[in-house]
Amino acid sequence: MGDQSEEFAEELEQAATWIREAENVVVFTGAGVSTESGIPDFRGPQGIWKKVDASIFEFKNYLRDPEVRKRAWQMRRDAEMWNAAPNPSHAAIAQLERVCNVTALITQNIDRLHHAAGSDPKKILEIHGNILEVGCLECKTRWPTVEILDRVEAGEEDPRCRECGGIMKTATISFGQSLDPDVLAACEKASREADFFLVAGSSLVVTPAAHMPVIALKNGARVMIVNLEPTPLDDLADIVVSGSTGEILPALSGLLTA
Ligand code: NAD
Repeated sequence: MGDQSEEFAEELEQAATWIREAENVVVFTGAGVSTESGIPDFRGPQGIWKKVDASIFEFKNYLRDPEVRKRAWQMRRDAEMWNAAPNPSHAAIAQLERVCNVTALITQNIDRLHHAAGSDPKKILEIHGNILEVGCLECKTRWPTVEILDRVEAGEEDPRCRECGGIMKTATISFGQSLDPDVLAACEKASREADFFLVAGSSLVVTPAAHMPVIALKNGARVMIVNLEPTPLDDLADIVVSGSTGEILPALSGLLTA
């Protein structure tokens, strides 16, 4: 075990016991599980908010301002996600699925690294979508993102739908944009049915995603939070581990595998 996992050995033993007893384990991840893959989060110590004006992530600004769309496409083109590989956090979550009853992996991440790490795609609920596809906001036609980024690279700063001329956007959810109701319903159901709910690498301030652990708590689940910084739910959680998911999650899955 690394230093952090030794510091939290008691909490991890307790979590392992509860996970072994649980029939429905739900894992809920945020941008923090991907920072060790080189993808910045929003609000962490090295987060995007420290460098970029957050207003470009507002859906209403994307719709009304071509400059925002131009910057958004440039950001997508240059995103660290395209070259990122899963880190020990993703691997440990995939391993948890093999050794205990994980029924759903709810992720706020759009980077597809849980898929890359071997998590069961049928259990992954991407509550904020993913970056692999682009959709026309008018006619709903979809394209692979790489095709649209090729157009950006070729000089189209705000590429328009070739079917109807509509505004296009990656199939991700911006602030102020509605979530896919089917995905949201599936996340809520999984959270209601959970008896152990593990939060990893999320500030738990983006709603409605952050309601999921609250739903789990209200329905009697034990909730564990692993995050570098405090979250608004720490006082209600059964276990809080202030550490790196890349150290803590492998230690936890190691206890369950042993
Ligand atoms: P957030 O940025 O609000 O919070 C991330 C949290 O993770 C922070 O509290 C930070 O302290 C913690 N953290 C960072 N590195 C960590 C580590 N190694 N170990 C443990 N904790 C760590 O992110 P959020 O809660 O996911 O919500 C913000 C939104 O960001 C989501 O909607 C998500 O879609 C989007 N987002 C996704 C990605 C991605 O796909 N990788 C990247 C940036 C933002």
